[in-house]
Amino acid sequence: MISLNFDVGSKRPLEVLCLGCHSDDIEIGCGGAILRLAQQYPDCNLHWVVFSAIGVRENEARRAAKLFAESRVKTLLLKTFEDGFMPYAGAEVKRVFEKELKQIHPDLVFTHQGKDAHQDHRLISELTWNTFRDHMILEYEIPKYDGDLGRPSVFVPLGEDIYQKKVRCLMESFKSQRTKHWFEPETFLALMRLRGMECNAPGGYAEAFYCRKLVI
Ligand SMILES: [Zn+2]
Repeated sequence: MISLNFDVGSKRPLEVLCLGCHSDDIEIGCGGAILRLAQQYPDCNLHWVVFSAIGVRENEARRAAKLFAESRVKTLLLKTFEDGFMPYAGAEVKRVFEKELKQIHPDLVFTHQGKDAHQDHRLISELTWNTFRDHMILEYEIPKYDGDLGRPSVFVPLGEDIYQKKVRCLMESFKSQRTKHWFEPETFLALMRLRGMECNAPGGYAEAFYCRKLVI
């Protein structure tokens, strides 16, 4: 199978927008793809938006963005919407998209998958599509207790250096989450190994995404 690439030419950098509801969503869902993009397109710019980053989780989000994207972070927007209540503050969340995110012109957007079992995740996915109507959007997956894994359509194979770094950075950045029974290296490695198997990744590991629309 041939690979598509995100080459936008030499005149400007690749602009990538990463949207996540909670501190750790971006990193779990597309941390490996971000590390790979940074390796492939060292000049890329990353616009990093977390809608619920409160207290210790704000510091964790800040630290993780630095570990994953380093100096490529061009925008770091950390909001304080209450975890679990985003659909009930929908108008305020939509205003962030309308007022603060519309100024960003991304070549690629990472967001939550539309059928995610978490209500906050579904809202951010919906607003992503409302706002970025002529953009390439890849929806990432988050393993969770509710069990909502599906059949994704886009795969990003990851070398050992990258998938190990992703897991290391996750464990280093989000210490407050370690009390959750699933927040451990095995969970993240297991999902990447299964997705790697599905796309015949040379190193055996991959991240997977849902793509609803693609123009070639
Ligand atoms: Zn989340």
